[in-house]
Amino acid sequence: MATSKCGNCNSASFELEIKSDVKGSAYPFTFIQCSSCGSVVGVLEEKNSEWLLSQLRKKIENIEVITSNIDSNIVKLPKIVKQFFKSSKK
Ligand SMILES: [Zn+2]
Repeated sequence: MATSKCGNCNSASFELEIKSDVKGSAYPFTFIQCSSCGSVVGVLEEKNSEWLLSQLRKKIENIEVITSNIDSNIVKLPKIVKQFFKSSKK
């Protein structure tokens, strides 16, 4: 089998580089690049779905915290209303 080589510097060594600052893209890309000169030889897009899922998981966890706080405040509400009317009768 032939050895894959960089078209720019002839190196046969490659690495993955996650680029989160790709202009015009809302999500990062994983570049396959020459580990000697950095020339990009390929792009992995399947990482994007992993990234999107992790972002969604974070958002869902934040929503769970918010709804849990709302739940605990709703439970306290009758007591607060009772106290309000008790103090307003005085
Ligand atoms: Zn190279």
